[in-house]
Amino acid sequence: MINKRRLVKTFKELVRIDSLSLREAQVARYVRRELRKLGIRSVQVGKPRGGDTGNMVSFVSGQGPLLLLNAHLDTVSPGRNIKPREKRGVICSDGTTVLGADNKAGVAAILEVLRTIKEQKLPHPHLQIIFTVAEEIGLVGAKNLSRSVLKAAYGLALDGGQIDKLLNAAPSQINLTATIIGKAAHAGVHPEAGVNAIRVASEAIAAMKIGRIDRETTANIGVIRGGKATNIIPAEVELRGEARSHDRAKLRRQVKAMTDQLRKACRRHGARLRLTTEQMYRSFAVRPDSPIVKLVLTGMKKERLRPQIKPSGGGSDANIFNARGVPTLVIGVGARQLHTTGEELVIRDFIRGTELLLTIIREAAGG
Ligand code: CA
Repeated sequence: MINKRRLVKTFKELVRIDSLSLREAQVARYVRRELRKLGIRSVQVGKPRGGDTGNMVSFVSGQGPLLLLNAHLDTVSPGRNIKPREKRGVICSDGTTVLGADNKAGVAAILEVLRTIKEQKLPHPHLQIIFTVAEEIGLVGAKNLSRSVLKAAYGLALDGGQIDKLLNAAPSQINLTATIIGKAAHAGVHPEAGVNAIRVASEAIAAMKIGRIDRETTANIGVIRGGKATNIIPAEVELRGEARSHDRAKLRRQVKAMTDQLRKACRRHGARLRLTTEQMYRSFAVRPDSPIVKLVLTGMKKERLRPQIKPSGGGSDANIFNARGVPTLVIGVGARQLHTTGEELVIRDFIRGTELLLTIIREAAGG
């Protein structure tokens, strides 16, 4: 049904255009031009602060419910000057950057499906296409979309990996930043006059339960920064960490447990603590018997896939769409090892995943 060569060509063109978060204007221009060729207009909404373009929102009139299709335009670092290579049915980077299949495979799949629908005059529901910006730095573009824009009956975010996996739930995430303020002193002359912030931080972290907490909950301290020289008792250390859980009460408990350890260690040594926590996004769970799950399952079966319904470990724009009332699932088009320089796209899966998307869309219009 779809044009496989054109799909792959579009993908390679997309990844060759640099589009780190907040720098998506150039790739947005490319996508806008492709949409315009199909007679589809797009408007720019919710431009993030510091960004060079906004989210692209388009509408294609059809019959039946309004289906949201989403992918994000930004890629993670190292993501400049990506050179896609094709080897034995797999596309990868040259090893110095990510590939950017996250999420340009999703962008290419949506474009190809729109072209196919138009060329072959295929039945489809009303479609809302939202290409978001700054997803990778905290779903910033999606957070800037108001409820009045998000009116779809249901949605699909093409931001997964495996094509037979349907992610119907995702955790909440809270980030925490802690600054431990001790007291500087000469390490050789007056060590007893100092309060060693590195020591305080170490004790707090050592006492924390981090990593996998339980089936639904994870936690991490990912950044530690502080200290000036070996002969100075360090006066300040900054820690940055996060916790995620599918259960919001567990998440609150985990964050409290982590901050309690920081408080205790500070108290023990007479250090001060500056603490900020930020809710990055809220969890969601789309019921397995909901219309969008049924739709995707039907499509997967038609494509002879064996569907797996799974919760995701990470947040995506789907968290925002769900929070704003659009039940949205995450599906994939064959990308692997996301967020690494070993990221790759399996062409066979990419094609099948795109065919699957087309099948789901036709199914939504009444089969
Ligand atoms: Ca992504």
